[in-house]
Amino acid sequence: MANTQLKPHAILFPLPYQGHINPFVNLAIKLASKGFTITFVHFEFVHRMLSESQHTNTNNEIDFFSEARNSGLDIRYTTIDDGFPLEFNRLNNFDEFWTSLLQDFPARVDEFIGKILQSEQSMVSFLIADTFFSWSPKIAKKYNIVNVSFFTQPALVYSIGYHLDILRENGHYPLKENVVEEINYIPGVKSINTKELMHYLKEGEVETLKHIVSKRAFQEGKNADFVLDNTVQELESETLDYLNKKQPIYAIGPISNFLTKIIVTKSFWSESDCTKWLESKPLNSVLYVSFGSLAQTNKHVIQEIAHGLLLSQVNFIWVVRENIVKSNGINILPDGFKDEIGDKGLIIPWCDQTLVLSNPAVGGFLTHCGWNSTIESILCSTPMICYPIEFDQPTNKKLVVEDWKIGTNLHDGDLIHRDEVAEKIRNLMTGTGSLGFKQEIEKLKNVLHKAIEKDGSSEKNFDKFVEDLKAKIYA
Ligand code: UDP
Repeated sequence: MANTQLKPHAILFPLPYQGHINPFVNLAIKLASKGFTITFVHFEFVHRMLSESQHTNTNNEIDFFSEARNSGLDIRYTTIDDGFPLEFNRLNNFDEFWTSLLQDFPARVDEFIGKILQSEQSMVSFLIADTFFSWSPKIAKKYNIVNVSFFTQPALVYSIGYHLDILRENGHYPLKENVVEEINYIPGVKSINTKELMHYLKEGEVETLKHIVSKRAFQEGKNADFVLDNTVQELESETLDYLNKKQPIYAIGPISNFLTKIIVTKSFWSESDCTKWLESKPLNSVLYVSFGSLAQTNKHVIQEIAHGLLLSQVNFIWVVRENIVKSNGINILPDGFKDEIGDKGLIIPWCDQTLVLSNPAVGGFLTHCGWNSTIESILCSTPMICYPIEFDQPTNKKLVVEDWKIGTNLHDGDLIHRDEVAEKIRNLMTGTGSLGFKQEIEKLKNVLHKAIEKDGSSEKNFDKFVEDLKAKIYA
C-alpha cells in the first residue's frame, strides 16, 4: 500500500498535435490546481515549434509552464526525442513517422519513464497518455503504475472505436466504398450513417498508418484503468452511460483554451492579431474559416472556397495554413484574390482561434469539425458550416448537424462548387436559415458552461475521477 502522505504525480504525454496538446495543457493546469504534481512531456520537435512560434531561440532552457509555476502550480516540464532530426517533416511523412512511433518509440518511452520514476520516488506516480499512444498500458504495467487514457475527442468516436468487432460482424468494418446505410446496433448510439463513421475505418484505408494506429489505440484503450474524455455528460449521455458499464470513463469537458486563464505557450505557429480588423466590422458579420492544424485538402477545394467567399460578399477571416494542401503549396489561392477581397477579408496563416471566435463581430464558422473547434464554436455560440476532411471529423459533423442542429453541411459528395459554397455562407450569415441554429447553440453553450460550474456534471466527474484514482494509486 502506497503511503497516502506522498503527493500524487501525473506524467502527461500528449500526442504531438495541436488539437491534442491544447486539451492536455489545460488538463495539466486543472490537475495541478487540485494539488497534483505534473510532469508534462513534449516531443523535442514540438518544443522547437513552440519556441519558434514565439520567435525565441531554440534552446532547451525555455519553460512554457513558468507562468503556471509562478502562480503556485507544481508543473515540471521536459522533452523526449522521437529519433528523427528536428527539421524532419512529420506531417508530410506521416507513415514513416508513425511506423517509428509504433515500433521504436515505446522503448524510448520505457527508458524515459523508468528514469522519471527513479528520480521521483518521494511521490506516487501515474501515467496520463493520449489514447492514441497504444504503448501506455504495457509500460504502465511494467512499472506497476496506474494508466489513465485521455481521449480528446467525443464519446461517440470512442464508442465506435470500442465496438469495431460489432461493426465487423455486421459487415460495416472495414467500410466498403459506396455503402450508405444506417447503423443502429452500436450500444449507446441510437443511429449513425456509414458516411459519418471515422474516415480511417474505410476499406481503402486499412493499410494506412492512420488506420493501424487508431485500431491499436482503441484495442489498447480497453486496458486503461481510467478514461478521461473531453466531452460533456449532457451532450452524450447515452453513449457515456453505456461505455461506463464497460470501463470507468469520465466526461470532464470542455477542457478548452477558452476557459484556462494561465498563459502557457501552445500554438505551433505565430498568431496574427485580428482584433483591430474585427473591431471595424459590424456585429455577427464575419465568417471565420479554418480547417484546424492538421487536415490537408487540395487546390480545387481552396479555389472553390475562395470564389464562394467572394460571391457570398460576406466579411471573412480565413486561416490558410502553410501546409493546408498536400502539394503545390504555393499560389493555391486564385490569381488576384487578395486584391479583389480588399477590406472584406483577412487571409492569415494562424491566429488565436478562441480570441477570434469570441469576438462579437464573428457570426459563423466554416470548419473542418475538429473536436476542439466544435467545442470552441459552441462556447462562443457560433453556428457552423461543416466541411469534414478526415479522421474523426465526419463523426463530429454528425453530432453538430444531425444531433444538435447547430450547423449545416457544406456539401455531400466529392466535388464542391463555388455557387454552393456561396449559398451556404449567405444562408448562415444573412438568411433566416441560421436562426434555429442560433437558438440551439445558445442552449448548448449554457449546458457546457453549467457543466464546469461547481456542481456541474464535469466538475463532479472530475472530482469523482480524482477520488477513484487516489483510491487506486494508494491501494
Ligand atoms: N487553432 C488556433 N488557431 C488557428 C486554428 C486553430 O489556435 O488558426 C486551434 C483551435 O483553437 C483548436 C486547435 O487549434 O484548439 C485545433 O484543434 P481541432 O481539434 O479543432 O482540430 P485539429 O487541428 O486537431 O484537426
